Amino acid sequence: MPVRGGPLFLLETHQKAAALLTFIIIILYNKDEYCETFLNMGGERMVEMDQHVVIIGAGFAGLQAARALGNRPGVRVTLVDRQNYHLLQALLYQVATAALEQETIAHPIRPIVRRWRNVRFHLDEVLGVDLAGREVITRQGRLGYDYLIVAAGAVTGFFGMKDVQQQAYELKDLDDAVRLRSQILSAFECAATERDPLRRAALLTFVVAGGGPTGVELAGALAELVGHVLVKDYPGLSAQDVRIVLVEAADDPLPYLEEPLRRYTRERLEQMGIEVRTGVAVRAAAPGRVMLADGQEIAAETLIWAAGVQAAPLAAAIGTAQGRGGRLIVAPDLSLPGHPEVFVAGDMAYLEQDGVPLPQVAPVAMQQGRHAAEAILTRLAGRSPEPFRYRDSGTMAMIGRGKGVASVAGLRLKGFAAWAAWVILHLYRLIGVKNRLVVLLNWAFNYVLFDRKVRLIVQETDSGALPAIRGNSTGRAGAGEIAAD
Ligand SMILES: Cc1cc2nc3c(=O)[nH]c(=O)nc-3n(C[C@H](O)[C@H](O)[C@H](O)COP(=O)(O)OP(=O)(O)OC[C@H]3O[C@@H](n4cnc5c(N)ncnc54)[C@H](O)[C@@H]3O)c2cc1C
Repeated sequence: MPVRGGPLFLLETHQKAAALLTFIIIILYNKDEYCETFLNMGGERMVEMDQHVVIIGAGFAGLQAARALGNRPGVRVTLVDRQNYHLLQALLYQVATAALEQETIAHPIRPIVRRWRNVRFHLDEVLGVDLAGREVITRQGRLGYDYLIVAAGAVTGFFGMKDVQQQAYELKDLDDAVRLRSQILSAFECAATERDPLRRAALLTFVVAGGGPTGVELAGALAELVGHVLVKDYPGLSAQDVRIVLVEAADDPLPYLEEPLRRYTRERLEQMGIEVRTGVAVRAAAPGRVMLADGQEIAAETLIWAAGVQAAPLAAAIGTAQGRGGRLIVAPDLSLPGHPEVFVAGDMAYLEQDGVPLPQVAPVAMQQGRHAAEAILTRLAGRSPEPFRYRDSGTMAMIGRGKGVASVAGLRLKGFAAWAAWVILHLYRLIGVKNRLVVLLNWAFNYVLFDRKVRLIVQETDSGALPAIRGNSTGRAGAGEIAAD
């Protein structure tokens, strides 16, 4: 009898067909990338006479702007970023919960831009902009421009709570995700040998502040990491010992979704064992303690902050008017008021549409990046740019294995259909076929085998102790007898 094995065997025929279809879609979506690369091999380089466009930031907005200006006559582009990779931040929580390796959600910028013969990349940190002199001030020197697109994104916002900032784990970059993963895993290592029941409980309590997509997805993924994997790794601990608390100031998690989707989200999170605390915000934090606005206190060694972002510090350095969250207030065409040659796009820009500020999400950034580039080409053609108008492509969030919610093009999806839509969208947003295939394979393995392979603690404190010891509120580190696991 032939031996049939491997995870694919466990899938039904229609599931295999769906997987195959997904592969084909991903490959086809990359068709343009291959063609552009091939056609531009050996093409001529930039001409000094061309108008010089500097783009600050190679995130979603900056890359879309570069793409729209790529290979266009009359412009040469310098794309500046302080890191040499483009990052899909929406998947950081999967790195933090041991589902994906960090390399799979980032892509180096140089291979992306080399398909555009008039675009070059410059690795540098921008410190400010001399608007009058039309120069970008970087750590390495000055860069003159004819047109400028500022797209430096956002940083985590703590609403001025310094104590929270000091205690919380944030999730904005690859280092943050790896640091958080090390904290979660080392909290289990410490708890496995901890004799004091109170400290053990605090080590196994994880507070997630913020019930937006990041908070919901992180809490769900953490619950699955604990329930499917860590309880097997630590036979002395059970899922009942672990507490995951999701704190959201609004009345529901994912508050901007329609009521049935909000209800579904809350119910699924609670089914997964997550305590959902709504209508209350985190107000303060100290080592081993998280304080809520209603006066309650939670003994927890791990506070994860997913409750807000604010514009990158470069916004303040530019010195023009700032709106909510420190974002630069822009004119309807995304130009900086009084500076028609400067455009701001993405998380850094503050623009209201129908009286409501545009959200800081990837689709807004991508559309604004494209618009800013097209506005420059329109100006060069001697015409005035159109105002920017955001076409809302909908929202979605993954709650857990086979569970998601999505509100797209008037459709309300929940459960497996929303989860599948989320998977396809995020595979599409990753750059590079290899990343897409590796992530797809990782997800397939995690799904079929209930596993999370990347359970590596790689960050230590200065003293060499495990990260969870650093937050030791009892000051017990290294003292006393070690309990057997
Ligand atoms: C954890 C997390 C999860 C998210 N999940 C989702 C989601 O599910 N769906 C969604 O639509 N959106 C999500 N977002 C939001 C989305 O990632 C942002 O809206 C989007 O990345 C904004 O694009 P941007 O180009 O404005 O900024 P970014 O993509 O952040 O890019 C900014 C770039 O500027 C560079 N930069 C910053 N300062 C400087 C400087 N001084 N000098 C040089 N370079 C600089 C940075 O290195 C970076 O490459 C999430 C964000 C986070 C943090």
